Amino acid sequence: MASRSDQTILVTGGAGYIGAHTAQQLRTRGYDVVVVDRLSNGACPAALVEPLVRADLQDATALDAVFQAHDIAAVIHFAASIEVGESLRQPLAYFANNVGGSLALLQAMQRHSVRALVFSSTAAVYGNQELEIIPETAALAPCNPYGASKAMAEQILAEQAKVGAVNAIALRYFNASGAAPELGLGERHQTETHLIPLVIQAALGQREQVSIFGSDYPTPDGTCLRDYIHVMDLAEAHILALEALLSGQHPGFAAYNLGTGQGYSVRQIIEAVRQVAGQDFQVLEAERRAGDPARLIADPSAAQAALGWQAQHSGLERIVSDAYRFFQQMFEPWPR
Ligand code: UDP
Repeated sequence: MASRSDQTILVTGGAGYIGAHTAQQLRTRGYDVVVVDRLSNGACPAALVEPLVRADLQDATALDAVFQAHDIAAVIHFAASIEVGESLRQPLAYFANNVGGSLALLQAMQRHSVRALVFSSTAAVYGNQELEIIPETAALAPCNPYGASKAMAEQILAEQAKVGAVNAIALRYFNASGAAPELGLGERHQTETHLIPLVIQAALGQREQVSIFGSDYPTPDGTCLRDYIHVMDLAEAHILALEALLSGQHPGFAAYNLGTGQGYSVRQIIEAVRQVAGQDFQVLEAERRAGDPARLIADPSAAQAALGWQAQHSGLERIVSDAYRFFQQMFEPWPR
């Protein structure tokens, strides 16, 4: 096991949803953390991400300054644009930020001889699959620029690993969800498109209603099935991946699914929020949303075998009640 107290980890996108939870957990384990984030969307309270360097990854001068000022042992790379719908409208922006940002980061790592990288990837690299549950061996077939940009970044990592320039683990999240309200952390995007926050906002009266996007899917109740994974389980996976890289036990490149293997429907999510909130709210049945696969459920066994990772906090009631408590808390406006 790597010794931690003297190790500094660079977390890009560490002010975002999953990045902030992971940075917090790293600190709890005794790592020093430096966050680089451009604070473009949904940042968490500034006090939680100190020290923070506000910079774009494509600003080579700013990145060089970070690597010069700190003895970085490894990088966890979250910084990216993450909205599927927006990626369909602005593909260039997604490739520029997600592929271009990753390239710039890898180049900076190479200049400063930093060779360990954990990469924030996504189940969107799989696109529409016929498979009931999806293993990492499934062919990558992203169906939007967001997923394609992440698949490209993975490919770049794999090639860099082949020539021995980096050791990298990509973690493909299924539906990141939940919160750590006791730490003041949770999911809050400037433009909210995700199901659980939207349903909670409806339960709290912050939204008039919630829409079910499609109730004619070939699933048990006609609505889409997703594999919801608690953000604290995601944070833990990043730390295990980091430690596998730092200990030298995981050379090369590999990608692992992070999910539970269990799917919940949109209707089940709505019912779970009703139960937790003790509050009814208006639900509309709407058209399907473009690009939504009927089911997206992980086979998480490879992450368990390779990293010793298993979801611990991802029961549906726990996910929804943590997210609900986070939304109940009143926050100061976030830093811009
Ligand atoms: N969804 C919905 N109503 C909404 C938002 C989402 O019915 O207002 C559905 C969406 O079609 C998908 C599931 O909820 O089947 C999860 O969507 P989300 O955007 O949270 O995550 P995604 O699976 O797209 O990453």
